[in-house]
Amino acid sequence: MEFKQEVEHVQCLIIGSGPAGYTAAIYAARADMKPVVYTGIVPGGQLTQTTEVDNFPGYPKGITGPVMMEDLREQAERFGTSVRFGYVTKVDFTGEVHRVEIDGTVQVTADTVIIATGATAKWLGLESEQKYNGFGVSACAVCDGFFFKKPRGCYCRCWGYSGRRSNISCKIMLKSTYVGSP
Ligand SMILES: Cc1cc2nc3c(=O)[nH]c(=O)nc-3n(C[C@H](O)[C@H](O)[C@H](O)COP(=O)(O)OP(=O)(O)OC[C@H]3O[C@@H](n4cnc5c(N)ncnc54)[C@H](O)[C@@H]3O)c2cc1C
Repeated sequence: MEFKQEVEHVQCLIIGSGPAGYTAAIYAARADMKPVVYTGIVPGGQLTQTTEVDNFPGYPKGITGPVMMEDLREQAERFGTSVRFGYVTKVDFTGEVHRVEIDGTVQVTADTVIIATGATAKWLGLESEQKYNGFGVSACAVCDGFFFKKPRGCYCRCWGYSGRRSNISCKIMLKSTYVGSP
């Protein structure tokens, strides 16, 4: 990867602004690594797309996802983290110093790069799935199984590792349907 312009150098660059990115930023900032977080197109990560988060320790009354992620950002910034809007389009980890390209234009080098780009839910692609998303349809059995206890019941679908996690939640549900390999 060739850089044609003057580049900024940072000690610690974190890709992603979900819980993992901000947690890394809090620790890196407290270790005086002056971290720079590039948020990507979803500042705050997946939890900004949900309402109630009930299973995070430290919030006895629960918390909404967007507020929780604001709290995490504020905490990271309190220790000196620089949070920037930008999407990492290219990385080059072959040299001693890591090279990162932001939005196809800005070039940054970093001693350390932490990748915290998360994941996205795999949906079935049904129209009703989007319609009832958050109103009975959930992509996270561990997060939301609790809300669908007997006798209300719900179906869950299982793939690989997430399937095993879903098994835990299926125990408290009325009925489970498996889709894909167990
Ligand atoms: C609707 C919904 C409800 C949920 N509810 C709960 C719940 O109640 N309890 C619970 O424990 N979990 C819940 N989850 C799961 C939880 O949101 C995830 O486990 C968690 O957000 C993962 O955190 P993360 O930091 O690893 O990644 P993410 O939150 O996925 O964040 C990834 C970050 O990386 C950024 N990114 C990606 N690519 C790039 C790039 N190229 N350059 C720069 N940045 C990039 C994104 O913009 C984003 O900021 C829910 C998820 C969803 C979708």
